[in-house]
Amino acid sequence: MKKLRLILGDQLNHKHSWYQEQDDEVVYFMAEMRQETDYVKHHIQKVVAFFMAMREFASWLQERGHTVVYYQLDDARNTQSLTENLQQLIAQYDIEQFEYQLPDEYRLDELLVRFRESVNIPVQSCDTEHFMSSRTDLQEFFKGKKQFTMEYFYRMMRKRYDIMMINDKDPEGGKWNFDHSNRNKWKGETLIPHERGFRKDARKIVELLEKEGVKTIGRITEKHFNWPTSRADGLSVLRYFCENLLVHFGDYQDAMDPDQAYLYHSRLSFAMNSKLLDPQEVIETVIDYWRDHSDDISISQVEGFVRQILGWREYMRGMYWMQMPEFATVNTLENTNELPDFYWTGKTKMNCLSCSINNSLDNAYAHHIQRLMVTGNYALLTMCDPSQVDEWYLGIYIDAIEWVEITNTRGMSQWADGGKIATKPYVSSGSYINKMSNYCKGCHYKVSKKTGEDACPFNALYWNFLSEKRAHFENNNRMNMMLSLLDKMDKKTLQAHQERAQDIIEHPENY
Ligand SMILES: Cc1cc2nc3c(=O)[nH]c(=O)nc-3n(C[C@H](O)[C@H](O)[C@H](O)COP(=O)(O)OP(=O)(O)OC[C@H]3O[C@@H](n4cnc5c(N)ncnc54)[C@H](O)[C@@H]3O)c2cc1C
Ligand code: SF4
Repeated sequence: MKKLRLILGDQLNHKHSWYQEQDDEVVYFMAEMRQETDYVKHHIQKVVAFFMAMREFASWLQERGHTVVYYQLDDARNTQSLTENLQQLIAQYDIEQFEYQLPDEYRLDELLVRFRESVNIPVQSCDTEHFMSSRTDLQEFFKGKKQFTMEYFYRMMRKRYDIMMINDKDPEGGKWNFDHSNRNKWKGETLIPHERGFRKDARKIVELLEKEGVKTIGRITEKHFNWPTSRADGLSVLRYFCENLLVHFGDYQDAMDPDQAYLYHSRLSFAMNSKLLDPQEVIETVIDYWRDHSDDISISQVEGFVRQILGWREYMRGMYWMQMPEFATVNTLENTNELPDFYWTGKTKMNCLSCSINNSLDNAYAHHIQRLMVTGNYALLTMCDPSQVDEWYLGIYIDAIEWVEITNTRGMSQWADGGKIATKPYVSSGSYINKMSNYCKGCHYKVSKKTGEDACPFNALYWNFLSEKRAHFENNNRMNMMLSLLDKMDKKTLQAHQERAQDIIEHPENY
């Protein structure tokens, strides 16, 4: 039977059972499409990474004797629409059955469900064979519960996969979570190795995007494109991480520095989200390396890393499928302000924002705490519309695919889901940023000053946010201490904070 099999840009799983056998009756289809380059304005490096990875994956399949139809963006046959391309191919190749792997994005899932209903040949969908939990595992795990605490889901996953366990119920090292050892500021006491970089020539793809008029954001050094785009690249980044970075991963997981774009972070998110690497092999490789080097690497570094992938990553995917499509529009705090222009230019006097945004514009990357406690924190404190915030995060990061972007942004960072993902809003004054980073000493503003023209803007914004939104947090135990401090603040000081916050929100160009 002549079959057409669709491979989406984030389904580059070399180990998928589809490719274990060779069937001359199967035609694989991959396409670079305006539908995908234009649904949000992406960072140029993100588009380049996907196109490069897709092309390399198509060549890998062809080298193994599979039949692949690949449409580049400017291919004359390319209608730029997924469903129209599929219809055309079904007719052209006399296809008798269409097959696809279940997409991770709701948007594409819906599109293919509608397509399935519209064609008159059999259609089969299958799993991507990538994640360690199914779309509905989390929903079943939390059935009947009002709270969806990540930690419990993570423990269940540790037991299910027997990862760092000493028996079927007790974790290795005597505790589940070593988070408290993972909160150091980096003061230059350890050498941070250069990232495992690449010097790929991306000029042809950049020229193609320019020729076709694709609008992008961010910057690129075209001759030295720096991200892993093949499975071999991904494996080499993973090996490099184990050998050079794992030793301090946990220690400095939350640290920030103006001159260190990656610190001890792995830079594996694109390779995993495009499915070049699978999460289980990443976890197992890291644990094996640690077991062989346990004299040098402590358990807290490894547990911190495993939790991000087995815990947070799988949890976010489950939360996405549990809450979509309503999740895409929730706005519990009713925030409606505009995201400031400096998110696209990096031009602001606030050093933490300038460094984090310029890092994002230069590298299509910022690590978790920069995303959460700098750019996300500022957007929430200034009460920006979560849809605008989502759009920025979905565009700017190399690893941004909706299932993991929106859950982190709208849920964890912007508290727009009313606390399903984050039990308290991730907001802070300048003191947290100062505690975890080396940004403040080079800043135009003074972090220790609470009022006055040169006071850190995060300070006024923080108290203003708490007083504006206090009704939402009154019954939240984790906010009690901050709300009681707010209540004790004298009226004049609070008023000064509110006036300044208003000015910051109305005139972000001045800060
Ligand atoms: C507002 C906001 C938006 C985010 N958007 C995305 C996104 O679009 N895509 C994305 O992959 N991650 C996103 N994250 C999570 C996290 O910031 C990135 O996964 C991480 O920075 C990627 O860099 P790394 O590979 O060096 O990660 P490391 O710090 O080395 O962590 C290892 C891996 O753990 C996983 N991980 C860590 N934290 C999370 C998390 N909170 N959720 C899911 N997986 C996690 C990632 O796969 C990552 O590669 C977001 C976080 C925030 C706060
Ligand atoms: S002083 Fe305030 S604005 Fe400046 S870097 Fe520190 S936290 Fe950011």
